[in-house]
Amino acid sequence: MNNLPSKLIDKLHSTIILHLDELTTLDQAIGDGDHGINMRRGLDKILESKTELVKLPLNEALHKTGMILVMNIGGASGPLYGSLLMAMGKKTLKTGVNNTNELADLLEAGVEAVKSRGKSSTGCKTMLDVLVPVQKALKGGTLAKIKQTAKESLQQTKDMIATKGRASYLKERSKGHLDPGAYSSFLMIETICDFMEEEHER
Ligand code: ADP
Ligand code: MG
Repeated sequence: MNNLPSKLIDKLHSTIILHLDELTTLDQAIGDGDHGINMRRGLDKILESKTELVKLPLNEALHKTGMILVMNIGGASGPLYGSLLMAMGKKTLKTGVNNTNELADLLEAGVEAVKSRGKSSTGCKTMLDVLVPVQKALKGGTLAKIKQTAKESLQQTKDMIATKGRASYLKERSKGHLDPGAYSSFLMIETICDFMEEEHER
């Protein structure tokens, strides 16, 4: 994978549309209810720029996608997902993303950027509680293992007390709900893994 595949952009967009109501409901429970709409706005804009994005080398496409998210998603998640992708795009790829080890290096840079932008780490009940375990699982892991890790780490956000973002205002009451940003991260990771599995089988 040396470019951002057109089909992957379509799939990520469809995933967010399909789960829009769930993302809204989760953010209504512990935030302000806009996470679904925010994600849809971001993915709509990415889809609009698709013709241009697919022509770029992968790192440039990731960086540009990050900029699109920063510019178009209001709220915390725009700058955070934007930082993730822009940092991934700054890494120089030696051979293109052909294996999970190379993806692990990219995601490591991305995760560090989210931590520093959000002044947060794992255990704060955020997207990092999915992104960090997935980054670790990518080292030598199979796609099935990565999906499983994403699913399990998402579930673990349910019992956490939020200490970052809007949900942290609820303190103890943030317990008992999945984190919306962890859910959108899970959805995107699952979609990327499914896409890579399908491509591999071809
Ligand atoms: P907002 O919170 O501004 O309404 P969104 O609803 O789009 O923005 O996104 C909320 C999600 O962003 C949370 O569920 C959480 O996963 C993530 N988030 C919020 N603050 C932080 C932070 N400081 N570090 C990492 N992730 C965060
Ligand atoms: Mg919100």
